[in-house]
Amino acid sequence: MSAILIIGAGGVGSVVAHKCAQVSEAFTKITLASRTESKCVAIASSVLDRYGVKINTAQIDADIVADTAALIKETAATLVINVALPYQDLSIMEACLESGAHYLDTANYEPPNEAKFEYHWQWAYHDRFVASGLKALLGSGFDPGVTNVFTAWALKHHFDEIHFLDIVDVNGGDHGQAFATNFNPEINIREVTAPCRHWEDGAFQESEAMSVNQRFECPEGVGNYSIYRMYHEEMESLTKHIPSIKRAQFWMSFSDNYIKHLEVLQNVGMTRIDAVDYQGQKIIPLQFLKAVLPDPGDLGKTTTGRTCIGCIIRGVKDGKEKAVYIYNICDHESCFEELGSQGVSYTTGVPAMIGAKLLLEGSWTQKAGVWNMEQNDPDPFMDALNKYGLPWTCVELSVEDAKALKVC
Ligand code: NDP
Repeated sequence: MSAILIIGAGGVGSVVAHKCAQVSEAFTKITLASRTESKCVAIASSVLDRYGVKINTAQIDADIVADTAALIKETAATLVINVALPYQDLSIMEACLESGAHYLDTANYEPPNEAKFEYHWQWAYHDRFVASGLKALLGSGFDPGVTNVFTAWALKHHFDEIHFLDIVDVNGGDHGQAFATNFNPEINIREVTAPCRHWEDGAFQESEAMSVNQRFECPEGVGNYSIYRMYHEEMESLTKHIPSIKRAQFWMSFSDNYIKHLEVLQNVGMTRIDAVDYQGQKIIPLQFLKAVLPDPGDLGKTTTGRTCIGCIIRGVKDGKEKAVYIYNICDHESCFEELGSQGVSYTTGVPAMIGAKLLLEGSWTQKAGVWNMEQNDPDPFMDALNKYGLPWTCVELSVEDAKALKVC
């Protein structure tokens, strides 16, 4: 049906390339490009071995708009799937406008010199995408991504109004390393060390990073974990597009071991994002730290356990209070068996493929412009999650249990 260009050959890029190759009736020509082409070549070789599908590779620095636009034209891509880093979002959107391609990503723009990820930079492109007749789908990963779709689906099928939203992201996986992050270490550490913001009373309320936590028992025996309240980008778009939401909170699990290492790294200055002088050279401590930490894309072979990510939603239906929990559980070892990847890359890459497929088929983002996930009909996406490896479950909760984040 369509030629696509995937940019970024990390853990997520590998899953997107494999998953798109599995659905080769939708993606007739796939090119994988990244800063380091050898990583693309290794992924292409795995895709060929597994599915007999040949994907093309290219070297690109996606910070350079003209080069990216030229590559889009050369590959005749109608859609670019951006799974490089959030720093590249705006330059790739510019390149899409210049070359006439649709755009999709999994994380919103973040300026390199400030750990602040917000949608306004990308929303500002709406009129230009409309004028070019092009579509941009933002945040088509798991969270953001599937969590937005879960919320939209709950509103469509279970509620007249949603009032309280708690998104809980548990990674119950064990990678066997002393310390590692499950996606890009620089982006991950910037995210978790930023001040916490949650939505309440019509505005984002700020609190100290990782200062609010509680225990959470996952369903289906995934386990009992400490979850920490933190800021996450889907709260910004969901509270804008579903204005009945009175409070939105995002929670993520971290092991005591992760917290201990993070505290030490912060205390010694290794998570700083400003440049420091080192033997006459400017280095950014967090970027240096990334260079010595394990590559999340390599964690698959040693990771065991499951992820459990879902939305606890309270609201009203027919004048009565009601609560539901919608979740997916994903097994790290099954992901590795299928694609050679760990579960966090898998849960991000599968929704990126699904978003791309729906966009190219025309069943999503029917109009040109810049769109968030919840602005589309959730039903085809929910069906595709069941079909392509991320089955979900919805259970009704008592209102009291939902308030306490008790789901089983
Ligand atoms: P990785 O660091 O593993 O991979 C990033 C890739 O992008 C690398 O191949 C890197 O190249 C490439 N890259 C970086 N800069 C450039 C550039 N200027 N031009 C071209 N390529 C570049 O990250 P992940 O795969 O873990 O994450 C990818 C994205 O997915 C991130 O934006 C992350 O925030 C997002 N994500 C979203 C989630 C969600 O649920 N929504 C969850 C997890 C991640 P090189 O190899 O040379 O460094």
